[in-house]
Amino acid sequence: MKTQDLNAQMIEWRHALHQIPELELDVSKTAAYVADLLEGFGLEVHRNVGETGVVGILTRGNGPGCIGLRAELDALPITEATGFDYASTHAGKMHACGHDGHMTMLLGAAKYLSEHGQFNGRVAFVFQPDEEFGTGAATMIRDGLFDTLPMDEVYAIHNLPGMPSGHFATRTGPITASESLFEIEITGQGGHAALPHMGVDVITVGSQIVNALQTIVSRKLDPAQNGVVSVTEFVTDGRRNVLPGKATLSGDARALTPATNAATRAAMEQIVQGIATAHGVTATVQYDTIFEPTINASAPVRAVENAARNVTKHVDGDCPAKLFSEDFAHMANAVPAAFILMGNGTEAHHARPLHSDDYDFNDAGLVPGSSFWVELVEQQLPIQSNH
Ligand SMILES: [Zn+2]
Ligand SMILES: [Zn+2]
Repeated sequence: MKTQDLNAQMIEWRHALHQIPELELDVSKTAAYVADLLEGFGLEVHRNVGETGVVGILTRGNGPGCIGLRAELDALPITEATGFDYASTHAGKMHACGHDGHMTMLLGAAKYLSEHGQFNGRVAFVFQPDEEFGTGAATMIRDGLFDTLPMDEVYAIHNLPGMPSGHFATRTGPITASESLFEIEITGQGGHAALPHMGVDVITVGSQIVNALQTIVSRKLDPAQNGVVSVTEFVTDGRRNVLPGKATLSGDARALTPATNAATRAAMEQIVQGIATAHGVTATVQYDTIFEPTINASAPVRAVENAARNVTKHVDGDCPAKLFSEDFAHMANAVPAAFILMGNGTEAHHARPLHSDDYDFNDAGLVPGSSFWVELVEQQLPIQSNH
């Protein structure tokens, strides 16, 4: 693999980044670490694109093509429990999603391509803030990410715990889900626990709503279109001997297409209003879609399959879609894109779910991941030797 010689260097960068996790758009230490390295490799570096985002541009020859490769700068508000000697030094913050590894793979590719790259055109190394809360990609796009630097295609890798290390998987069409947060407020008439007929008990009404919401996925969505509706909170103002007059149901809904998300929202509104009317209470539904589905375009997916086969024979070009969400959806809406999953391993910390306090990015993925980026760039921006 092309970046094998950078393995020790990349492990050092990854562990350094792991020790300084930062949150949301407030990632200036991490951004400076990345930008300084890119400058050291001789790239043209743009800082503060979309508040704290960084873009490094590497140019070879005069080819008109430009491809974007994305990594994430941000971490999570989690207290690390790995006990590693390179554990987080920022209390209550942790790289528990492997973004430290994603950044390092891009840095490795940038260093290799700056020294040995066989390509003709431009590569944009895009480091976005706030992937986890979903504002970073949009912030960079609003700040002109694709206007000042038009890209033909854009790509991103995310590690996947439980899949063997260094295996690649992707698919054409939806690959990650939309995420919508909902809040249903029910207002009835509370009162004495022994006199239920004098009011309208919102626990009884709310329970019916919770049960009926389970029919959205099982009975209202096309079975071929995946969705999830989870009620995660049921809060009332009742006491042990006082029937509540107000209840709030909150939760999270996922869908793989905008149409399924819209159908989920419409079904929720209909169920809530129907049950509320039947019991003579009022109810409101607030439904906010905070992540859109990431939709992979077919040509970039084929490019990924071809490039990945130079790194490993374990390439799945038609993997199942994932019901987690990705801020990369905004970039994939703007430019033909592919979001790629890379196995993080099947043992111990490497198989723990993303966002666990004992999750760890597998350093064994650094060479395959960065070598894949190199192969992709050289394949997509070829040197035309016979012209
Ligand atoms: Zn995450
Ligand atoms: Zn992530």
